[in-house]
Amino acid sequence: MTKFIFVTGGVTSSLGKGIISASLAKLLQARGFSVTIQKFDPYINVDPGTLNPYEHGECYVTDDGAETDLDLGHYERFLNIPTSQANNVTTGRIYQYVINKEREGAYLGKTVQVVPHITDEIKRRILLLGHQDRYDVVITEIGGTVGDIESLPYIETVRQLKWELGSNNCLVIHLTLIPYLKAAKELKTKPTQHSVKELLEIGVQPDILVCRTEYPVNKEMRRKIALFCNVTINAVIESIDAETIYDVPLLMLKEGLDKTVMGKLKLTSKEEPNLDKWKEFLGKLKNPLHEVTVGLIGKYVELQDAYKSIHEAFIHSGTTNECKVKVVSIQSETITPENVAQLLGPLNGILVAPGFGIRGVEGKIAAIKYARENNLPFFGICLGMQCSVIEFARNVMGWQQAHSTEMNPDTDYPVIDIMESQKKVNQKGGTMRLGAYQCQIKKNTKAYQIYNSTLIYERHRHRWEMNNKYLDLFEENGLMATGTNPDTGLVEIVEHKKHPFFIGVQYHPELKSTVDNPHPLFVKFIKAAMDYRKKRETESIGIS
Ligand code: GLN
Repeated sequence: MTKFIFVTGGVTSSLGKGIISASLAKLLQARGFSVTIQKFDPYINVDPGTLNPYEHGECYVTDDGAETDLDLGHYERFLNIPTSQANNVTTGRIYQYVINKEREGAYLGKTVQVVPHITDEIKRRILLLGHQDRYDVVITEIGGTVGDIESLPYIETVRQLKWELGSNNCLVIHLTLIPYLKAAKELKTKPTQHSVKELLEIGVQPDILVCRTEYPVNKEMRRKIALFCNVTINAVIESIDAETIYDVPLLMLKEGLDKTVMGKLKLTSKEEPNLDKWKEFLGKLKNPLHEVTVGLIGKYVELQDAYKSIHEAFIHSGTTNECKVKVVSIQSETITPENVAQLLGPLNGILVAPGFGIRGVEGKIAAIKYARENNLPFFGICLGMQCSVIEFARNVMGWQQAHSTEMNPDTDYPVIDIMESQKKVNQKGGTMRLGAYQCQIKKNTKAYQIYNSTLIYERHRHRWEMNNKYLDLFEENGLMATGTNPDTGLVEIVEHKKHPFFIGVQYHPELKSTVDNPHPLFVKFIKAAMDYRKKRETESIGIS
């Protein structure tokens, strides 16, 4: 029988429920259980695809084309198993489903209400994930903070499931904050007590408290929390600020979170968790032998979460190369042909980020020109790849007016054009080319060297594409289409023939990089940045 674990949050948002859920899942997985994680988001958007990255960070895309919350990225990076549409559900989606059913007459004349109809639909989606794929454990993270109006139906569903499934099959982990008062030089437990009271008011007694803290929580304080929140002492788990998110599974192991969970759910495993690979990764991450500085050029750089998966992929690929990757975020709007050399001169490589709309595009193009002309490693993702095509058309082929029809619908040289299938689309949500598609790679290319395969699957999220009308001319001039979709001929990878590392991809490789499987494109990009740095250093020694 599948066991269900719910993770709620109290006191404040941003405590890291996603990381705690992923860490617990990692520990259970390392003990041999099959685990998946699901996230419920209490907002009305049907999915986060229509949200501005400044609002909610990156939109993470799954293989099956779901536009989801960025926490799913953490789940995949920690567990190394793909998630799907079923792993992220929003209030909007629940209501949309229930309202559609009501319109079909499926409720047979009943008054459709939050309880039971909305709560039943939430319940169905939780149980479905467990039963359908026969996971040993399903961890369900409830977004938002206990006490918010919009999370009420979710907490009510948790209450009902606790009653229906029984305490051996279902438990609630409540993540809370133990703030440190500087003036009093003390950690304070009262907010935690209040937040547990808030849960109790809705009828849910948490079984485990994970206490986020800047300082260690001593025995006496743990006892106090346990007593006033009505949990066992071993169920008070300290979650102290960590150096990196990748430390958290080991910190949770030290605190015995997995053991407490297994004890309460009557789960037995003979094995101690096997975390050898994880520990090796952490060891390398913390003791790098090399260092490179790469520029991340995008228009949402003020918010780190907007490019979450790219930052994490740099960590994975840097670690593989035993290299610390220092990422300098550059707002593309600030780059001009006049300042580009000064801005990019100190870097060992640039990644030009995905994006939508015209803001910052000219800065991206100026940066790519500099990288192309100076043999600086360049890696373009989605819009970043499209900008490299525009740059090449303008500055190598001499088509000064070349553009994407996204930015200039009347351009004489639409080198990036809207996909045929997108022309009739007029709704924004969920209508892009989304999810995993095949890409065939030509032999004797850099892409082939990197992937060591002629057929790959990568995830997409775009409406525009490279215009195949100009392909021959591009190739004659040295920008090669080395990866294409075998069914549609759509260009997926471009690379520069003579440049040491100049690769643009229409898809999002960052979404598939995990601790266990760092993405080869990122690994090789960092390697190229290391080589570039070495070459520059040797050259400068030669000169002086
Ligand atoms: N705006 C571009 C398109 O829709 C690129 C999208 C992206 O970078 N994800 O094709």
